Amino acid sequence: MPPSIEQLKREALAALAAVQSPPALEAFEHRYLGRKGKISAALRSVGQLAEADRQRVGAAANALRQELIAAVEEKREELAPDGAAPRDDVTVPGLPPRRGSLHPLTLFMRTMEDIWRSMGFSFHQGPDLETDWYNFSGLNIPPHHPARDIQDTFYLKGHPKHVLRTHISTVQLRAAERQSPPFRVVEFGRVYRHEATDASHEAAYFECEGLAVDRHVRVTDLIGTLTTFLETLFDRKLQIRVRPHYYPFVEPGMDLDMACFFCGGQGCGICGQAGWLEMMGSGMIHPKVLRHMKLDPATWSGFAWGMGVDRLAMFYYRYADIRLAHSGDLRFLEQFN
Ligand SMILES: [Zn+2]
Repeated sequence: MPPSIEQLKREALAALAAVQSPPALEAFEHRYLGRKGKISAALRSVGQLAEADRQRVGAAANALRQELIAAVEEKREELAPDGAAPRDDVTVPGLPPRRGSLHPLTLFMRTMEDIWRSMGFSFHQGPDLETDWYNFSGLNIPPHHPARDIQDTFYLKGHPKHVLRTHISTVQLRAAERQSPPFRVVEFGRVYRHEATDASHEAAYFECEGLAVDRHVRVTDLIGTLTTFLETLFDRKLQIRVRPHYYPFVEPGMDLDMACFFCGGQGCGICGQAGWLEMMGSGMIHPKVLRHMKLDPATWSGFAWGMGVDRLAMFYYRYADIRLAHSGDLRFLEQFN
């Protein structure tokens, strides 16, 4: 290092060591590193040196400048008002971890479950992979019935007697095996249909089915129970209607509709301009099915219903596209917690 720079360095470091306060540090910076400071002066004077010395002295002055800038930063931290605090403050709260949340369909099924429970229903769970008996024959759907069509049902290769359940009415037979009447049972679960998916069709979706078996059960018990459920769920008085509909495992069978509360019954895109929303299929348990439950239809009667959970959830949360629930889109899913 050239003697002039060497001397300047000694002088600067001694001066910096003597600095005890932020204002003194500022004065030091001004004196040595400022535009008119000593380092700048040294760099300017390089131009007056002999050609041979210019590069050497210039480089040394620049190196000293960098060294002093670093030393000043170090000093600044030493002198900081909260100088006692370490650079990494371990007491600062961390970033909260991103937590997952329950799916809207799960939340919705829990809401439904609470209502059924309050009405005296217990819960049953059956397998997704069912035998022909529980899915079809036992429910009065003989082999020639169109519901067995290959278009609707997932059969298993090499297992002709097993299917992915096409509806959750399987609960009717399975629940009856476990208990003696009177009983009230509900099941929630996935069902599977062999079809192309579009705006209103999914290959797998959730259903909720229930049944009540007792002596002297009437159609009015069915309508009253389902109306009470829907009015509790939607927390309002509802206009309900029933229409005859054929289901092989009930007699009589009916569909239950409620007046569309999106349009007040005037007709809109959601109710297909009908003014009514189709809520579920239902009916009085078919005598043949009662016999399959090993119950005498002369003594026992009952009603059953089945509803699509995904569709009902759409009405409950009031979103317009049934596919959103299966979209995996966090912008949608995060709105329910
Ligand atoms: Zn409507």
